[in-house]
Amino acid sequence: MSYTEAVLEQVRKANPEQPEFCQAVQEFLDSLAPVLDRRPEYRKAKILERMVEPERVVMFRVPWIDDLGEYQINRGFRIQFNSVLGPYKGGLRFHPTVNLSILKFLGFEQTYKNALTTLSMGGAKGGSDFDPKGKSDAEVMKFCQSLMTELRRHIGQDTDIPAGDIGVGLREIGYLFGQYRRLENEFSGVMTGKSVNWGGSLIRPEATGYGAVYFAAEMLGHHGRTLEGKTCVISGSGNVAQFTAKKAIELGAKPVTFSDSNGYIHDPEGITSEKLRYVMELKNIRRGRIEEFVERYPGATYHPDERPWSVPCQAAFPSATENEIQVADAERLVANGVEVIAEGANMPTTPEAVDVLQSAGVLFGPGKAANAGGVATSGLEMSQNSMRLSWTADEVDSRLRQIMRQIHEATSRAAEEYGFAGNYVVGANIAGFVKVADAMLDQGLV
Ligand code: NDP
Repeated sequence: MSYTEAVLEQVRKANPEQPEFCQAVQEFLDSLAPVLDRRPEYRKAKILERMVEPERVVMFRVPWIDDLGEYQINRGFRIQFNSVLGPYKGGLRFHPTVNLSILKFLGFEQTYKNALTTLSMGGAKGGSDFDPKGKSDAEVMKFCQSLMTELRRHIGQDTDIPAGDIGVGLREIGYLFGQYRRLENEFSGVMTGKSVNWGGSLIRPEATGYGAVYFAAEMLGHHGRTLEGKTCVISGSGNVAQFTAKKAIELGAKPVTFSDSNGYIHDPEGITSEKLRYVMELKNIRRGRIEEFVERYPGATYHPDERPWSVPCQAAFPSATENEIQVADAERLVANGVEVIAEGANMPTTPEAVDVLQSAGVLFGPGKAANAGGVATSGLEMSQNSMRLSWTADEVDSRLRQIMRQIHEATSRAAEEYGFAGNYVVGANIAGFVKVADAMLDQGLV
């Protein structure tokens, strides 16, 4: 049995009820054989065995009172996975599906994604099974205050700096930060994704979506092609999906879909800037459902309980959630002529579906690389907070573009060096792994 197989077996045995975490570890380990053969010191130092155990898992009760005066109890989590490269950094997710498995997979991935950004950040993830959907602002505030009352013991601007993720946007970050500031009597850069009025960075809300589009443009550019004129299928209609659409439109591409957990809309005429403004107002302010799009734009169609992958396109941006592209979806995408896929979401494509896409020659940018623009810009927000100044939108955007270019180069180079030219999955995993593993060797057995 190889070293990676032995570690994977141990991970499965130790975490039998954590399928998403085991999937993320398997996807990662599957890429590492060539580097482990070349660098036996990693095995001797039990680097993989250490990497698959989080440094710390915090799980706690979050009690709050709803608008009817009923007591409510949720679970809160923070998984502090690896801080060898810097303070823990990673988002908070509020969604009913949140559990230890999902957050461990996200914290594990975050470690190697953060390594790729070249900024000094460790990996973490956290959140709660709280569902903000259908809750009043007052309920969301009371929940956030209760969660932060415990979470504040475990975070700090030099220790762990949370940000947003699914269900955690500007409103939630505001309530969380406000409670931290009150309890600690300290105004610090303890969270990113803040409003620009009080310490947030310009372009942070845009960064994950913009970065995914930049990464797709880099992959295409490497092959002498561009995004211009390409039909794009986008899933989700939240933060990442919206700004993916915005940048795609700016680069002359044509987004035609959005989705949410109830279904997707298809607008064959293309989602224009005006239609995108409507979606932003619908999802961010009215907190409505994507199906309302077709009432406003009758040229579009709504497809309940379906994902958008059967819509013909040349570029696809999964930007909703994990495992949303399965083998049958990948086969449809290939049959319809998809050329490039950049994962805005984390692990949205199953490993078997990735195989289908790569075997068909589709340029495939994995989330670890393609959606790293979000956390990279969080890193830029931390720098601005430390220096107590704000960069212009153009400056942040050009740094983001530069970082995405560097990530593309680093992943391409690592893939080539180990005999997998053009395989961005292997490239991202190896480049992230080597950086973290070498730092772990340097810092000894801790
Ligand atoms: P949002 O909460 O803003 O939007 C999430 C979108 O995905 C919504 O349209 C939501 O629909 C949909 N969605 C969520 N869960 C499911 C599900 N189980 N099935 C189908 N649709 C679902 O989150 P973000 O846009 O911030 O995050 C989207 C993805 O991007 C996640 O995988 C996240 O981890 C990843 N990501 C986000 C970053 C960021 O900076 N925000 C950084 C890097 C990665 P509905 O409205 O019905 O819930």
